[in-house]
Amino acid sequence: MKSKILRGVPASPGIAMGKAYVLKKPYLVFSGGSKGVEEEMEVFLEAIRKTKEELSGIKEGLSGDAVGIIEVQEAILEDPLFRERVETKIKDGKGAHESILEFLDEIKREFGSLGDRYLKERYLDIKDVSHRILHHIFPRRIEWQPEEPHILIAHDLTPSETAQLNKDRVLGFATDAGGRTSHTAIVARSLGIPAVVGLSNATKEIKHGDEVILDGIKGVLIVNPPEKIKRTYRKRKEEYEKLEKELLSLKELSATTIDGYEVDLSANIEMIEEIEAVKRCGAKGVGLLRTEFFFFSERRLPGEEEQFEFYKKIASSLAPDPVIIRVLDIGGDKLYSWEEYKEANPFLGWRGIRILLEEKNLLKTQLRAILRASACGNVKILLPMISSIDEVMDAKKILEETKEELRKEGKEFDEKIELGVMVEIPSCALLAREMGKFVDFFSIGSNDLTQYTLAVDRTNERISYLFSHLHPAVLKLMKLTVEGGHENGKWVGVCGEIAGDPLSVPVLLGLGVDELSTSPIIIPEIKSIIRGLTMEEARSITEKVMRMNRVEEIRRYLREEMAQRFPLLINLFVEEEDAGDNR
Ligand code: PEP
Ligand code: MG
Repeated sequence: MKSKILRGVPASPGIAMGKAYVLKKPYLVFSGGSKGVEEEMEVFLEAIRKTKEELSGIKEGLSGDAVGIIEVQEAILEDPLFRERVETKIKDGKGAHESILEFLDEIKREFGSLGDRYLKERYLDIKDVSHRILHHIFPRRIEWQPEEPHILIAHDLTPSETAQLNKDRVLGFATDAGGRTSHTAIVARSLGIPAVVGLSNATKEIKHGDEVILDGIKGVLIVNPPEKIKRTYRKRKEEYEKLEKELLSLKELSATTIDGYEVDLSANIEMIEEIEAVKRCGAKGVGLLRTEFFFFSERRLPGEEEQFEFYKKIASSLAPDPVIIRVLDIGGDKLYSWEEYKEANPFLGWRGIRILLEEKNLLKTQLRAILRASACGNVKILLPMISSIDEVMDAKKILEETKEELRKEGKEFDEKIELGVMVEIPSCALLAREMGKFVDFFSIGSNDLTQYTLAVDRTNERISYLFSHLHPAVLKLMKLTVEGGHENGKWVGVCGEIAGDPLSVPVLLGLGVDELSTSPIIIPEIKSIIRGLTMEEARSITEKVMRMNRVEEIRRYLREEMAQRFPLLINLFVEEEDAGDNR
């Protein structure tokens, strides 16, 4: 049997080996029109009632992040927008089931045309809950999970389907659709089921009963693997499970080098559902709370109160650990266009702070909510896409005005709240010494800093081989940033993907960064590397790296050095052949 490798997005770490169970969802076919407005309305409301009961039953059996996912569905059931749109169709003479299907079609078109990944993921939640209602209108039990242990292959899994996966029978799952930040991925991580998503064609490429290895660490699926690969993976699986057990014991310990240099190791998150993961992985609070997902998970902009509740929940749950909230960074690859705004070069266009300084009310509302939440925890503010000192001064002016408003209204906030800037544009790194006078901290966004330094679009697969956060030019700019911050007595963090790249850790330590923030999944590994190095070693490795001129040379050298010290971890987490960036 021919073996093949499919590459996707690593959504939940772990390795699973077994036979494929390719899920084909039964197509829902309905017949019969309306039996009259009153009767159809009753059918609809009764199905909603049963769905509510069903959801609360599911919720009882869950814990941690997965509970939040079911709560999202409960909220959709209560959403007047959802009810009204379906009820209008019923009143127009359509059957309850037909009205729901029509509504789903409309939402799919509306959300899809916005081309926004967050909204597409939101659509999945709505679809999931609608299908539940449909099943109550036409009850039938569909046993869609395998009876024996298998690896589940599906076009997509809704968050609640994922929450119900039977861990004894589903060793891991792979889907054609989905992204790293989808609710489905979050539930998989909270259940500890290895998963790879975004494979595009897995359901077409894999047949029922094929032998499969699923590598949720690297985002790879190997179909009908040869004996040699199976042997390698059996060993990898054993090693991974052993390493995970060992790393669990680090949870309560700080990220301190052997010779006593402590780094703040924090998490990058986007949702309330991730608070549990932050606590579980042993992170020191949140180093980057991206607010775009929260803003665009609804079809309207959240108001001050809604934002306040969101920031407050995260800040108070994690207090006294810090939560660094980045104000909205839209534009570039995160364009949400409520007016179908299009640009020829979005990454060089109206993005991040440029939008906020023009849309002053948008910024002010967000700052008001963040400031108010600062009374309930350890909150800091982060500005995205800063390219000049003028932008910092303008944003500070708006922050001061906002503080003054709150004082007048008698609303509490942290008067000493820190304000930092993302270092994502070379001009910002080059000006760090001067800019350091006006900010409280820097946070290096290596993803954009790499993109803008090397003129490599971070989303363009065609040139992804040129994208490397270990490029000597990028490292020089990071060094300038750390020096510029420290000269002014300000701390410097790193929140781009380089902070979660095991090979880069000694270099970041050697450059003298004070904080690292990365995905909760990789935090235990990064902590164990920090705890296994001395600062002296890190500085000597960094000095050598800073004298090198080529990415390949740097990566090879770092791989050799790190593989000697952390053989298991490097072997598991760093690709040998292409040693690609962990983007
Ligand atoms: C970065 O640019 O490195 C960063 C952390 O911000 P984002 O990935 O959200 O653009
Ligand atoms: Mg960025």
